[in-house]
Amino acid sequence: MTPFSPGTSASLCRGVMEGLLTRCGALAACSHQLSGSVPRGFHHCALGRGKRLVLSRMFQPQNLREDQVPSLEGRSGDLTCKSQRLMLQVGLIHPASPGCYHLLPYAVRAMEKLVRVIDQEMQAIGGQKVNMPSLSPAELWRATNRWDLMGKELLRLRDRHGKEYCLGPTHEEAITALVASQKTLSYKQLPFLLYQVTRKFRDEPRPRFGLLRGREFYMKDMYTFDSSPEAAQQTYSLVCDAYGSLFARLGLPCVKVQAAVGSIGGTMSHEFQLPVDVGEDRFAVCPSCSFSANVETLDFSQTNCPSCRGPLTETRGIEVGHTFYLGTKYSSVFNAQFTNVHGKPSLAEMGCYGLGVTRILAAAIEVLSTEDGLRWPNLLAPYQVCLIPPKKGSKEAAAAELMGQLYDNITEAVLPLRGEVLLDDRTHLTIGNRLKDANKFGYPFVIIAGKRALEDPAHFEVWCQNTGEVVFLTKEGVMELLSQVHVV
Ligand SMILES: [Zn+2]
Repeated sequence: MTPFSPGTSASLCRGVMEGLLTRCGALAACSHQLSGSVPRGFHHCALGRGKRLVLSRMFQPQNLREDQVPSLEGRSGDLTCKSQRLMLQVGLIHPASPGCYHLLPYAVRAMEKLVRVIDQEMQAIGGQKVNMPSLSPAELWRATNRWDLMGKELLRLRDRHGKEYCLGPTHEEAITALVASQKTLSYKQLPFLLYQVTRKFRDEPRPRFGLLRGREFYMKDMYTFDSSPEAAQQTYSLVCDAYGSLFARLGLPCVKVQAAVGSIGGTMSHEFQLPVDVGEDRFAVCPSCSFSANVETLDFSQTNCPSCRGPLTETRGIEVGHTFYLGTKYSSVFNAQFTNVHGKPSLAEMGCYGLGVTRILAAAIEVLSTEDGLRWPNLLAPYQVCLIPPKKGSKEAAAAELMGQLYDNITEAVLPLRGEVLLDDRTHLTIGNRLKDANKFGYPFVIIAGKRALEDPAHFEVWCQNTGEVVFLTKEGVMELLSQVHVV
């Protein structure tokens, strides 16, 4: 399709469309308007003036039938957990190959929001964003001996010249070599907190649980460089606190637990675990003091708290974040140095800090959702508001125009909600059917024009998903409620 053909209607609406497309990436909703000579949006959607986001134009999300859920993990297998089932059912993800999923528009919107929250938290503590290649040369990994140590988890390949690479599961080697290449670093410039949000790869023997354990996934990985162990320790605490703040903003009850250092190495490590039954990790918490640890770090028979001797409680969790104090393990291999306060070269003290981005998304859905409906952290909901106008030909049909006006009022007056309001224009369906779908998608606010929309003044039925409240509000009431919504 040519996005901007020289047709008259295209040039008429180009300004509006460009603005909208930039703001919300809503190609699925609006692009049909741009190509033809007739402004088809006007009659496609009697409710819309074309610039409204309408559900009927969204790619796939109305596919809600359980029996249509595509087969999983490349095998004929059962759905392995709630988040995977719901995400497939509503069209957030679609299986591509074992452990690999297409992220569909709703999922991408939620993930982009999550990345924005992560950016805010990382940049608040001085993080600087970089972006390193996924294709990682073998010699980097041979330098730390991890080319062998990582074994079959590393996805390896050769280019046409026979040169070996892996698809990076993590980037300690790459970032340390990058920093080592800067030959004039001074202690005055440190600390550096460098991070990226990129695709990572791991050759999982048994990918499962949808986005919770895939072979290709998004991670935020941060690497920090400090001038002394004391400074590095402070940076470590700072990043852990930022993780705490992130999970608090998402409303996720994460627990920070002591962890094993594994193949990353270093001398200290913590995991951020989200307690949930399908979790593959087991961690122990002491109800009497603040002790908590992954059971891998405990002795086989240890059932009592090492600090207060009280009994430990064991919980299953999903690991959504992991932090490591690395010391000079990597900086010594690649000679990542800076000039210290005495003018002498000195090795950087490092830390590394991961967050499973796609995993946080799936884990949040796993923890917050009901059996029948997605529930999101408020900040991550792909769309904040869904408007349901009356069924065509019903007694309330006259209220359809009011709903259109409400849409325009919201998006004109509440700036953060531009691109966040969706109109369920499938008016051949009853309000009840569309409400059921909306509940399944978990829009934080669902607004219905039912019988009371014909009163004077009109009252809209407002479902507040996260409080479970249903209230009737006038247009002014709706506007006031929505003006308090936080959008990231
Ligand atoms: Zn204790």
